[in-house]
Amino acid sequence: MRERSNLEQATTDLASAPDAAEALRLGGLTAMTTGDYPGELAATLFCHGCPWRCPYCHNAHLLDAGQAPALDWAEAREFLARRQGLLDAVVFSGGEPTAQAALPAAMAEARALGFKIGLHTGGPFPRRLTRILPLVDWIGLDIKALPADYPLITGVPGSGEQAWESLQLVLDSGVDLEVRTTLMPGFDHPEYLAPLMQQLADAGVARYVLQQCRPHSLLDPELRARLPLAIDLPQNIPFAHFSLRQD
Ligand code: SF4
Repeated sequence: MRERSNLEQATTDLASAPDAAEALRLGGLTAMTTGDYPGELAATLFCHGCPWRCPYCHNAHLLDAGQAPALDWAEAREFLARRQGLLDAVVFSGGEPTAQAALPAAMAEARALGFKIGLHTGGPFPRRLTRILPLVDWIGLDIKALPADYPLITGVPGSGEQAWESLQLVLDSGVDLEVRTTLMPGFDHPEYLAPLMQQLADAGVARYVLQQCRPHSLLDPELRARLPLAIDLPQNIPFAHFSLRQD
């Protein structure tokens, strides 16, 4: 059998490095959507893994970071190469895309193909986000609650501080930002939403979306009996752009 050259070996080692694009683990893709990146026709890639466990998560099948990928990066990149000139953007969603060390390399390759880059994140890894921000054109950032209340939703101590630090990093970077809050029983009344919205507006958030839990595929199936939540908004909405997402 022919011995492998040093170059072949080095290429294989690079491809198997956890931060190589080829290491990105995907659960699937949406080939074309206008709903994941405002104003752009996009393909959405769904990344495996998330450190949090929100009861309303509707992508529970993506949360396990160790499962076998349904799609590998080579297939996704080939798909994107065939869509050059037909799509505007690629959105990295999840799960939590920033959980994977391979994300920046995959984003850089998608950007090199000519696509704008969108990111859906909950912001659990502020330091990684700092590295990713120069590669991103638009971010949809979930802010789930006031910082102290996060563990009641994510199940993870300190998660609120991480998410709000990520918010500040995105605001400081100037990357286009939409902040979303998913309504959660107990955190859905105007007396809770008013100070949450005000704290976001004070931080500099201009574009904000309040969204209903989607009733299908919930991580906590018992939540379904309490949906849909009645939406009772605060009197003052302190954002230049506000919308309610009910789908
Ligand atoms: S809703 Fe988002 S942050 Fe929460 S468990 Fe699902 S993917 Fe993770």
